[in-house]
Amino acid sequence: MKKIKYVNLKPEEIPDKWYNIIPDLPDPLPEPKDPEEGESRIKNLPKMMVEECLKQEFSKERWIEIPEELRFYYMQAGRPRPLFRAYALEKYLDTPAKLYYKSEFYSPTGSHKVNTALAQCYYAKKEGYRRVVTETGAGQWGSALSYAAKLMDLECTIYWVRAVYNWKKGRRTLMKMFGAEVFPSPSPNTQYGKKLYDQNPEHPGSLAIAISEGLEDAYNHSDAVYLLGSVLNHVLLHQTIIGLETKKQFEYFGDYPDIIISCLGGGSNFGGFALPFYHDVLKEGKKIKFIAAQSEVSPNLLGEYKYDFADHAEMTPMLKMYTLGHKKEMEPIRADGLRYHGAAPILSYLRHKGLLDVKTYPKDEKYVFDKAKIFVQTEGFIPAPESAYSIACAIDEALKCKESGEKKVIAFNISGHGFLDLEGYKEILGI
Ligand SMILES: *Cc1c(COP(=O)(O)O)cnc(C)c1O
Repeated sequence: MKKIKYVNLKPEEIPDKWYNIIPDLPDPLPEPKDPEEGESRIKNLPKMMVEECLKQEFSKERWIEIPEELRFYYMQAGRPRPLFRAYALEKYLDTPAKLYYKSEFYSPTGSHKVNTALAQCYYAKKEGYRRVVTETGAGQWGSALSYAAKLMDLECTIYWVRAVYNWKKGRRTLMKMFGAEVFPSPSPNTQYGKKLYDQNPEHPGSLAIAISEGLEDAYNHSDAVYLLGSVLNHVLLHQTIIGLETKKQFEYFGDYPDIIISCLGGGSNFGGFALPFYHDVLKEGKKIKFIAAQSEVSPNLLGEYKYDFADHAEMTPMLKMYTLGHKKEMEPIRADGLRYHGAAPILSYLRHKGLLDVKTYPKDEKYVFDKAKIFVQTEGFIPAPESAYSIACAIDEALKCKESGEKKVIAFNISGHGFLDLEGYKEILGI
């Protein structure tokens, strides 16, 4: 047979259902709960969130239909995306392992986040909202939402962590090209932000603070709704399109992964890629090792498994998750999308069951970016700084195989491209 570099699906093979793992878990996923004091956050949720997304958040259906019109938007965003065999990287590493990577970097705004942004905007529009509001850290979520909102004729307001807003000028332009209104956070635009802003107008901000601002804005305006780009069950659900495509593509390759790797901030790209394979482990007795690549700066999977808030201002319900604490201060890194205090409840649960390993990387990012450079120079594509962690981890596993002589099949997800984050590579690698 001729050697094949990648497998892609036909447009009509785009999955028509997302996979919801909740009914397949060995016991019930711990539900969100209210803190002992103060008003009920859970009762406030319908005032802030899209109803269909809330329904999906608690759904016990294994398969959830992707609306036909939304599948069409997925095609517009370039889905399906190819699964590549990393022959050149394998050769460079001289490893007996087989490496495969999923190409979420072929995204119109640079990351996998478009998959859920389109779904959430689709439902927001259907439910009659005029405006969507969100926070963004690295800028990938803000970019994805600006894109999806504009295509569906919604206005879009973004609270962007100031420390990142200040250096990612290209991303700022991108969001504005898509017509979004962008505020550096903390901003004087919300009460919560103004308090911090008045103390220090150059406050670097954090994701948890920006979430609080977005929630407050949506809460105070009935025609606006808040959308979240990671962590929650329905976000991971929308992202399963990545893993569902990948599974079919592995069938065409005639192969199956022994190890599944991706970077993990809140857990949406990892979950989207891995959950359809967790199904095989939980329901079909397959054996796969799952590894999440994280930064030493925010190793949330090494935190405590307990109930914690998702935001700084404690406006959200408490979620049972591995967390470093919602007030945790984290040093800035270039892979800013990995800086979040908690890991998605579904993935936290799987870790608690011993089904998810973690590998952390040093905060100076030199090691990780050096590995990304190897990928760039062999496979020929520039990953997002976050995705560089996924690559570093895959390379580490491939090198272990070289030592042991094992021919493992390693699948890793490349969650985004780095064209708008080249400054980060330039500084860390000194090139
Ligand atoms: C946001 C982002 C991440 C981290 O978020 P998850 O929800 O953990 O996926 C990783 N990679 C890219 C490219 C991102 O934009």
